[in-house]
Parts: sequence; C-alpha cells; structure tokens
Amino acid sequence: MVVETTRKPLNTDLDTTPPAPGDLELVRGFVSLHDHVEGTRNSVPPSLETVEWWLREHGLLTVDRTPEEADLRWAAGILEALRSRVHENMGRSPDPGSIDTLDRAARETELSVDFGAKALRSEAAGVRGAVGRILAVAFLAELDGSWSRFKECSSPTCRAVFWDRSKNRSGRWCTMKDCGNRAKVRAYRERERATA
Ligand SMILES: [Zn+2]
Repeated sequence: MVVETTRKPLNTDLDTTPPAPGDLELVRGFVSLHDHVEGTRNSVPPSLETVEWWLREHGLLTVDRTPEEADLRWAAGILEALRSRVHENMGRSPDPGSIDTLDRAARETELSVDFGAKALRSEAAGVRGAVGRILAVAFLAELDGSWSRFKECSSPTCRAVFWDRSKNRSGRWCTMKDCGNRAKVRAYRERERATA
C-alpha cells in the first residue's frame, strides 16, 4: 500500500478565516483554496497538489490512492465555478458557463436525493465523490439562502472566501486582524498623505 503524505504544499496558506456554520465550512474552505506566488502575499488559484492535499486533510479522499491528474483538474474547475457564484453575491452578473459546469458536475458526481435522511448524496467515488459532497452542501445553501452570505475578501491580493455574519451584510475582509487591519493601515496612511 502506498501511503501518500498529507504534508501541506509549500505555497499554500493555513486557512485563518473564521469558519462558516456547520457543513457550509466545507464549501467555504474549498472555494477559499489558493496558493501564493512564492515569497509574496499574492494569491493565485490552487495547484493540483494543493487541491489533493485539502481533500485529504478534510477526510474526503482516502489516503491510499493517488487520484488522476485529470480528476484534480476537473475539481479545480468546479472550485472556480463555485467562486463565480460567490462573485454573484457581490453584485457580479451570473456566468452561464459556470452554471453549466455546476449542472454537469451534479450529474458527474451522481448526486441523488435521499428522502429518508432528507439529504443529497453523491454516489461517485474518489475525487468525484469528494466534490459531490461539497456540491450537495452548496446546492442546499443556495436553496435556503445561506449561500448569499458567502463573499470574497476585498483585499486585491486575497482569494479567501468568508461567510458574512454581520447583520447588515457589510463584511469586507476574510479576517479583521489580517486583511482588515492591513486595509485600515493603508487607509490611514492615505489620509495622512492627503493632509500632509
Ligand atoms: Zn483576505
């Protein structure tokens, strides 16, 4: 048996954004996945290695099988399609291509309804099954409206997605002490410069 390492890839951050409620955290963590341009804070889409690492870390993939690269690439595509749904929450118009991708993914992950458990289930195995579990949560969140609280961090270098808990949905940053603080410092410096 080949045991895969679950070591964190080099350019991946540990996620410091506060968790979304319940199962929604699975979706939030997935769509937040990103790498950094080496030695900088600039976020870029996750490498396939990062996607695999994250799925393993969250117990969605068994550790003794190496997934196909094509499956990981497919998963990364679903991640981007879900992100485009997050961008809709921030006022962008719906992207028909992304919606198609998600509809297709629901079939590819063999999502089916379970009346007894009042749940959606994925009948697929491996990476498809893992993504199916995430899609099931995302779809139910769209139905009950909780999806609308997902937002992307306003920092231009950050790809983190957070669940906006604020009453008037005015949240802007993945974390107050990280991106929020840096924005405050930047705004302060700009004010200082303007008055100097
Ligand atoms: Zn951020």
